[in-house]
Amino acid sequence: MKRVIVIGAGLAGSEAAWRLAETGIPVVLFEMRPKKTTPAHTTDLFGELVCSNTLGGIDETTARGLLKSEMEILNSLILEAAKKTAVPAGGALAVNRNDFAAYITEKITGHPLIEVVREEVTEIPENEIVVVATGPLTSDAFSKYLTEYLGEKALSFYDAIAPIIYADTIDYTKCFWGSRYGKGGNDYLNCPMTEEEYERFYDALIKAEKVPLKEFEKEAYFEGCMPIEEMAKRGKETLLFGPLKPVGLTDPRTGKRPFAVVQLRKENREGTLLNMVGFQTKLTYPAQKKVFRLIPGLENVEFARYGSIHRNTFINSPRLLLPTLQLKKKPGVLFAGQITGVEGYPESAASGIIAGINASKLFNGKEPVVPPPTTMIGGLLKYITETDPDRFQPMNANFGLLPPVRAKGKRVRRKIQAEKALKDMKKWAGNAL
Ligand SMILES: Cc1cc2nc3c(=O)[nH]c(=O)nc-3n(C[C@H](O)[C@H](O)[C@H](O)COP(=O)(O)OP(=O)(O)OC[C@H]3O[C@@H](n4cnc5c(N)ncnc54)[C@H](O)[C@@H]3O)c2cc1C
Repeated sequence: MKRVIVIGAGLAGSEAAWRLAETGIPVVLFEMRPKKTTPAHTTDLFGELVCSNTLGGIDETTARGLLKSEMEILNSLILEAAKKTAVPAGGALAVNRNDFAAYITEKITGHPLIEVVREEVTEIPENEIVVVATGPLTSDAFSKYLTEYLGEKALSFYDAIAPIIYADTIDYTKCFWGSRYGKGGNDYLNCPMTEEEYERFYDALIKAEKVPLKEFEKEAYFEGCMPIEEMAKRGKETLLFGPLKPVGLTDPRTGKRPFAVVQLRKENREGTLLNMVGFQTKLTYPAQKKVFRLIPGLENVEFARYGSIHRNTFINSPRLLLPTLQLKKKPGVLFAGQITGVEGYPESAASGIIAGINASKLFNGKEPVVPPPTTMIGGLLKYITETDPDRFQPMNANFGLLPPVRAKGKRVRRKIQAEKALKDMKKWAGNAL
């Protein structure tokens, strides 16, 4: 092997290429822009932020704050660029997007070990170590090729994300565990509603503010993923025959079937995260908080991930990838960024660092590595590669991905988790880098 090939110079690909080159390994980095562009990118710069200009909170007791501190330990190029080009944004790390992308582009193109090729890749080269980081808007030709290459019937071209809430913020006195008709044990947490509670929820839902669709999201948008608010618009009864149907459920407190029921299902093995079944939505984040907190038992819940529906090409990582980000059937091919099912700017970049580290391990004939599951990056990789492949949807950084700790008060628990994560990441980085 004389070099490593990285496909896509977005957040993940730039991190991977940088990591490899900094380790002394020659890299060929393919980027199709500006010859061919995506529906959301507008420049030819690397690491272009296609929407908001923030990489999230700085405080280490927030999930993204912790994630960024871990990236810093791993010498992240994206974080370096963000700090150099930051604009005032209170407790968040926001950047001047043009300066940010220009900084990354300059660093990458100026690196003596990185050769940049401005071409669309339509096939994965054989007998090479390759990092695929073509993002949520992977070109059509390459997406089509990947579907066959991976032996999949189809890739996912839209995500349909239902909100996920922290289990320890639910009021369990108002809910009950159980499955419809008693089949399946206590797999679901049921939040029963009276007719009055349902009416209040329904009215708020249909009036709530939505995120406007991007032009390229309009066609085929509703094919496989009807947002709950769109379903509700079809009539007051529709949800009662859909995600809020009460059939087969008896509220043990009344001995009767409730008027409506919202069901939550465990999102991870530890049960620290619960998914709101059938609640994929395009409501704005503040609207989700307001409307979904009208559900009995959820009045004070905190959201680990809000619901969303985007144009988003991603592979079935739990089926296809090892936690090292290597393809199970071709371990010389690694995936990184949003295409693996991590969701968000820092999450995509962080996975790029790990893919870069592991591509360099393979290049040097060493064993690839995985950060400990007590770290935010380790927890995220564990989730995307170990969750149920039949229900896989993208995931962002959140504290439910870390092993739970026992302590009174959420802030105290987060602090303990964050301290452990940073300690473990420092130790791991000392060995891995
Ligand atoms: C419209 C939209 C808005 C988003 N908004 C946000 C947001 O506000 N906040 C947030 O945290 N996350 C957001 N995301 C999610 C995600 O974090 C970003 O898309 C992020 O840029 C993903 O990083 P990446 O490196 O995986 O992909 P990208 O940054 O998209 O990089 C992929 C690169 O690969 C190139 N490429 C694609 N196909 C090929 C090919 N065949 N050959 C060569 N090059 C190719 C592309 O041109 C691109 O430069 C958004 C996603 C989308 C689609």
